[in-house]
Amino acid sequence: MRSLEKRVDGFLKARDWNHLRPSDLAKSIMIEGAELLEIFQWSSMEIEDVLKDEYKFSELKKELADVMIYCIQMSVLLKLNTKKIIEDKLALADQKYPADLMKKKSVKPGNESLYLKIKMAHRAKRKS
Ligand SMILES: [Mg+2]
Repeated sequence: MRSLEKRVDGFLKARDWNHLRPSDLAKSIMIEGAELLEIFQWSSMEIEDVLKDEYKFSELKKELADVMIYCIQMSVLLKLNTKKIIEDKLALADQKYPADLMKKKSVKPGNESLYLKIKMAHRAKRKS
């Protein structure tokens, strides 16, 4: 992860883009996320369908990379340790959504109720 952060840092500095505002990057992350989502507009493709569709799979890889590059750019500009913030968030998600409980009630389309119940309970706790 550090080598990717260094590569992104070099990319930004070489273009004098190392003073971008976090808000600009947040917008760019969402814009690229929308481009990723656009690939699935008017379809509900399963994993196998995506893997079989060469064009869509190719576009998906590019848009996913765009999202991740902007995420790493924000991380670099804010001097964050990308690996650490991901690991910290995964640890929180591990606590919030216990694997044994989630596996039994796996989150599949049409079966999101336990996931949503836990998520809403955490949000209510944050507000109080
Ligand atoms: Mg793009």
